[in-house]
Amino acid sequence: MRRWNGWGDDTITYPVPSSAAEFLASVLGPGTPPADASLEEILNRVAPGRLPDHPLIDRNPEPRVRHARGQSLPDWVAMRSGRIPTLPDGVAFPSTQAEVRDLIRYAQGVGAQLIPYGGGTSVVGHINPLPGDSPVLTVDLSRLNQLFSFDEKSQLATFGAGVRGPDLEAQLRARDVTLGHFPQSFELSTLGGWIVTRSSGQQSYYYGRIEDLFAGGHVETPAGPLDLPPHPASAAGPDIRQLFLGSEGRFGILTNAIVRVSPLPEQEAFHAIFFPDWETGMTAVRTIAQTRITASMLRLSDAVETETTLILSGHERLVGLAERALGALGLGDDKCLFLFGVTGSKRSVKRSRKDVVAIAKEFGGRHVGQYMGGKWRESRFLTPYLRNTLWRLGYAVDTLETALPWSAIPTTIEAIKDSLRTGLQDIGERTHVFAHLSHIYSHGASFYVTYLFRVADDPETTLQRWRALKDGASQVIVAAGGTISHQHGVGTDHLAYLPMEKGSLGMQSLGAVHHVLDPHSIMNPGKLFVG
Ligand SMILES: Cc1cc2nc3c(=O)[nH]c(=O)nc-3n(C[C@H](O)[C@H](O)[C@H](O)COP(=O)(O)OP(=O)(O)OC[C@H]3O[C@@H](n4cnc5c(N)ncnc54)[C@H](O)[C@@H]3O)c2cc1C
Repeated sequence: MRRWNGWGDDTITYPVPSSAAEFLASVLGPGTPPADASLEEILNRVAPGRLPDHPLIDRNPEPRVRHARGQSLPDWVAMRSGRIPTLPDGVAFPSTQAEVRDLIRYAQGVGAQLIPYGGGTSVVGHINPLPGDSPVLTVDLSRLNQLFSFDEKSQLATFGAGVRGPDLEAQLRARDVTLGHFPQSFELSTLGGWIVTRSSGQQSYYYGRIEDLFAGGHVETPAGPLDLPPHPASAAGPDIRQLFLGSEGRFGILTNAIVRVSPLPEQEAFHAIFFPDWETGMTAVRTIAQTRITASMLRLSDAVETETTLILSGHERLVGLAERALGALGLGDDKCLFLFGVTGSKRSVKRSRKDVVAIAKEFGGRHVGQYMGGKWRESRFLTPYLRNTLWRLGYAVDTLETALPWSAIPTTIEAIKDSLRTGLQDIGERTHVFAHLSHIYSHGASFYVTYLFRVADDPETTLQRWRALKDGASQVIVAAGGTISHQHGVGTDHLAYLPMEKGSLGMQSLGAVHHVLDPHSIMNPGKLFVG
């Protein structure tokens, strides 16, 4: 069963060796496991829902608590501590487009707000009910999960938007095709969620981001239904699909989505290379991207992430051997792990691997084969389970990300890490910070920063620590002209920063579109933009 106050399936754990716990204690200080509230305690305190009866709506406390928060750090603090000031007043599970339409009409009729819910994996507060007088209806789209049609010739598949990653891929693989969209939250996140948050998968370098894969579909809005035809390309004015990419549930509910799929690759492999240091690694990765080699993933970890990954991997003996072997090759404490994927025909995989390794070699990169890349692939959807383990050890983990042109990356990345490293100094707390270049483009890259700090005894203090770190780093991102999010979206946590990125006229344009599609602002208010 899905964990109600953590990540993933409660039968899956991610143990770490005692040496990893010792390492964390040495960099952050000893952790104190926080006392979590039990589900029973929370359920006993739930006030009755304020929504009138409807056959599709469940007003019981348990589904309301289970749909109350996503996966952001504030969400974790709320669920773990049991301090959840706002809950949906009911949760609906529609199975058809007509039922979605009916629920929108119902919400309009009773003056309720409506929150579309995909997999609930948002890390920026997208699905949280906000305090207010109107009742809140959460619409869980998990029953809209069918493959409605597959046009083999055009390589287009139409799915219910609530389909989760594994179910979507299983249905496609049975037809020898793949969407190739693999966010780390793949296990629980949904196609609709990916589209309306402009998600990026780990192999988007090859398959494209979700905006490249989203061909069309159907949206139910408070102003009426809207079809988005899957034209391969069109010069007929602005593309209306773009309005829904990144709309975060504000413009309507995407009920089905048509996606562009690809034949299953003949071959795929993930390799590891170690660079002597970060600067050289970055130059090599940029050169690989600008040479336009058809890799499927390029991911460069900084030295701290390289070390932390090796320590947390749980393979103590192997890591010791690897460290000694790398040391003998002249790769010391500054070494940076570069993982790359190659996907496609046997010929192209072979050629791309050769090309990447050749460029890396020019920059002192040492190719160490497929073992580490294979391990990364095996555990890529398991890594989020580490959050559960670390929380129990008394450590909170959060991530943030942005994208910038290459010329701005080196200084901005250091400024962000610096802001996080020093963010809690005043209160005598330390932060463990590391980063990787995660999605690479010829003109720039996104980077993904992970930071760990100690959970406090009191949830409010943990939140204050998080806020100090998050605000400091977000200020650095916007001051450097970076986007406030490359892949996680805006939700509530980034809402204050969006106007700096879009400008006043840009925000007014978004508001005007919203006014047409959702004139009474019932759709997920207070997310993406105010109102
Ligand atoms: C461990 C972890 C790893 C992650 N890794 C990645 C990653 O690699 N790449 C990445 O891009 N993101 C990642 N994320 C973030 C998150 O998974 C994405 O934002 C994802 O796209 C959200 O999908 P969801 O189905 O869970 O949507 P939800 O969290 O349920 O909802 C997100 C937003 O979409 C709206 N929404 C959902 N479905 C619909 C619909 N059908 N119609 C209208 N609105 C809808 C909701 O109202 C909400 O505003 C990660 C999150 C976690 C916790």
